[in-house]
Amino acid sequence: MHYDAIIIGAGMSGLAAGIRLAMYDKKVVVLERHYVWGGLNSFYRFKGHQFDVGLHAMTNYAPRGAKGLPLSRLLKQLRIRHDELDLHPQGHSAVSFPGVKLKFSNEFELLRSEVARAFPKQVDGFDALTRAVREFNELDLDAPQQNARPVVRRFITDPVLEDMIFCPLMFYGSAREHDMDWDQFVVMFKSIFLEGFARPQQGVRHVLKLLIDRYRKAGGELRLRAGVARILQDNGRAKGVELDSGETLTADTVLSSAGLVETERLCGSAGWKPALRGKLSFTETISVLDKPARELGIEETIIFFSNRQRFAYEQPAQDVDTSSGVICMPGNFKLPEDPKDHLLRITNIANYDRWAAKARVENDPACEYARSKQRWYEQSCADVLAHIPDFRPHVKLVDMFTPRTIRHYTGHEAGAVYGSPKKLRTGATGIDGLYIIGTDQGFLGIIGAALSGISMANRWVLQQSPEPAA
Ligand SMILES: Cc1cc2nc3c(=O)[nH]c(=O)nc-3n(C[C@H](O)[C@H](O)[C@H](O)COP(=O)(O)OP(=O)(O)OC[C@H]3O[C@@H](n4cnc5c(N)ncnc54)[C@H](O)[C@@H]3O)c2cc1C
Repeated sequence: MHYDAIIIGAGMSGLAAGIRLAMYDKKVVVLERHYVWGGLNSFYRFKGHQFDVGLHAMTNYAPRGAKGLPLSRLLKQLRIRHDELDLHPQGHSAVSFPGVKLKFSNEFELLRSEVARAFPKQVDGFDALTRAVREFNELDLDAPQQNARPVVRRFITDPVLEDMIFCPLMFYGSAREHDMDWDQFVVMFKSIFLEGFARPQQGVRHVLKLLIDRYRKAGGELRLRAGVARILQDNGRAKGVELDSGETLTADTVLSSAGLVETERLCGSAGWKPALRGKLSFTETISVLDKPARELGIEETIIFFSNRQRFAYEQPAQDVDTSSGVICMPGNFKLPEDPKDHLLRITNIANYDRWAAKARVENDPACEYARSKQRWYEQSCADVLAHIPDFRPHVKLVDMFTPRTIRHYTGHEAGAVYGSPKKLRTGATGIDGLYIIGTDQGFLGIIGAALSGISMANRWVLQQSPEPAA
């Protein structure tokens, strides 16, 4: 079978790219190794409850009618109406470090006033940093790369404030330890602090259903349980793929959301570079409470925390680093109805290799993997109590996922949640007709990944095509 384009992966980026191409009457197929779509942002059933895998919040919130923002661009490009997303904004969130807390919301002024209160000598620098972020064009894919910390230090001289600014941006989107690329910093600062958080009442399922419906309606083909084993090449040009089943499909263009290292491997590259392998992975605990978190005195929607004054974003030497993380209360969005389950989620940085080495026996709570999960669940819950009241007596059901789960859902080497530290901003791999989309192109989160799929489809497939009928 021959296609105009083959897309590897039915995560946010693959689905968005697929919709865009199908809208232009391209013959396109999305190939997904799993039996379900969504990638890192999928969902699952556990003991009668529906859980999202990755969604805390949709970053990049834009109110209806706002122009020129990432969410508005995404809706326009995919012909989705704002109200179809059913987005409900956060109440407020916080960055919480020992002895100091900064609240923020979708109104940027709250964060600014909090900085002025807690770090009065830094507020002019914070204003200047904000101006620099606003003025930077992160969409210039050819802009030279630079590290974010030296740029931020030109404006912010207090190291604690510096770490408090970096903490949410790193947890929600950095594939690098200790620092970020400046353009990534700008993307994340805008998406978290300047734009903010929202959530559909039904979580990620709602967004995925919208995308799948749109894709199918536009005539796109989706094949599940269709893992790509190899990318086929001819004279330095991608010409199609071979599936795990041995079936071959050909195409003019292949867009891969499998990740940079993983796509290199699919090409059979002999010389893959270990430095490209991401090191940062997460555990996530999910506690189902017997009442809304609000009734336990937890007001925030999301808390990014560190129990140490200086925050270390790095692969821990032990299984999990519970001294910092993200606490998410999905029920604390301004939802029209309280969700069926009252959830409290905690994300911590974890070490893939240590989790991968643990012996695992299906349904055996005494196996090493299950016992480690139990131990780290308890530690993770204990270490957030400096930031929220003790919720533990109210927990009625628990689940936890580990770097192994992330590897399972994304196929990423080492369960690298945000992929490789190297991002291919233009998507070009050096092999004609093969382009990277999604996480390793460098736009992160749900909106970022979807915009990546759209922009790469536009740039590498649709440039010559006329506008489709609305
Ligand atoms: C705990 C956690 C919380 C998060 N919270 C948020 C949040 O609150 N808000 C937010 O915006 N973002 C969040 N994210 C990030 C967000 O989920 C990702 O940035 C985004 O989903 C990435 O989409 P993607 O399309 O690039 O890649 P993926 O979601 O990784 O999709 C890639 C797909 O490709 C498939 N695939 C890989 N290899 C092959 C192959 N060889 N053949 C066929 N298929 C293949 C995979 O199975 C997968 O479905 C979170 C992530 C995690 C882990």
